[in-house]
Amino acid sequence: MKIPYIMTPGPTQVSENVRLARSLETTNPDLDLQFYDFYKETCEKIGQFLKTKNEVRILSGEGILGLEAACASLTEEGDRVLVIDNGIFGEGFADFVKMYGGEPILFSGDRQREIDINELQKFLDKDSNFKYATLVHCDTPSGVLNNIAKICPILKEKGILTVVDSVAAMGGEEVDVDEWQIDIILGGSQKCVSAPPGLTFLSISEDAFNVMKNRKKAIASFYCNLLIWENYYENKWFPYTQPISDIMGLSEAIDNLLKDKEIIIRHAKIAEATRKSVLEAGLSLYIKQGYSNTVTVIEMPEDINDAELRNYMLEKYNVLIAGSFGYLGGKVIRIGHMGENARIDKVSYTLFALQKSLEHLGFNCRCDISSCFLSGL
Ligand SMILES: *Cc1c(COP(=O)(O)O)cnc(C)c1O
Repeated sequence: MKIPYIMTPGPTQVSENVRLARSLETTNPDLDLQFYDFYKETCEKIGQFLKTKNEVRILSGEGILGLEAACASLTEEGDRVLVIDNGIFGEGFADFVKMYGGEPILFSGDRQREIDINELQKFLDKDSNFKYATLVHCDTPSGVLNNIAKICPILKEKGILTVVDSVAAMGGEEVDVDEWQIDIILGGSQKCVSAPPGLTFLSISEDAFNVMKNRKKAIASFYCNLLIWENYYENKWFPYTQPISDIMGLSEAIDNLLKDKEIIIRHAKIAEATRKSVLEAGLSLYIKQGYSNTVTVIEMPEDINDAELRNYMLEKYNVLIAGSFGYLGGKVIRIGHMGENARIDKVSYTLFALQKSLEHLGFNCRCDISSCFLSGL
């Protein structure tokens, strides 16, 4: 395989030390008790990364498993669940709520802006009878960022548990679980964390565990059951054999994040310079307010086909960027500058390749995008 620059909003490039960690000799993770310590220490490091004392679990499955596990474990027949929606992942939570017998009630916002907190507050003042609420931090198909620091405490004050999908934000945007009173937040290995896809992890509050323990009916799943891990360490028992190499890679990737004190600032600078340069070139951004610093979503100029553009960039410059899907399919392209992709050299080269490819297809940029990016840093 010839590996391109993967400048997509996940999976991202995986650094060498993470790849090497995954190649180390492994033991039997069920029977060798050392692995229980390793798993627990890795969970504790994730807790440090998310700034929480809550329990953390790493599950063997990609990010979607985290979303489903949260909904499966909290939802009971007839539960009213507030689904805060201003994007494809936001809206998508409703499907998981329904699947486990809940009644999703949507609070839908403008898809080009972050959730309006005053509007949400007004909505909650009329109706706050929800068991929990779901919310997406960065809704990746559009690149909108929601202010979970403000929204989660408001929900909590109304007695509503919060489930936050931060798969595409954590590591590139600030997260402070305890300060923001987030009951469940989930991430994936393949976005800013910059490990290969295959793992999801969640931090779970005492309140969330209590709701799960006090259910009338047992959780209708094994793999998605967050209670099944209770006392795994004391009992030296995992519900299934752990993907040890994946977890060894994740542990190394979390170390990289914890060591990198400039990571949030770097994401902010790179994202801001990217947006500025794209606008100066005469292109438009899809989002009008509430930009995530992990991904830039650019509207396709008229008469340019997004697949043709992306294919040309890949073939000629060896740069892989993403289109989008759902209602945004064919309308935008997405550059992921998250985790290991949030590097000046990579983004600069990507913008150079974008410009050359746009020009090849007949769109003339108003500036040199890459130089503009570099001078905007
Ligand atoms: C990537 C991502 C996930 C995980 O889903 P996949 O599309 O399967 O990678 C979940 N939520 C968000 C917001 C994501 O960006």
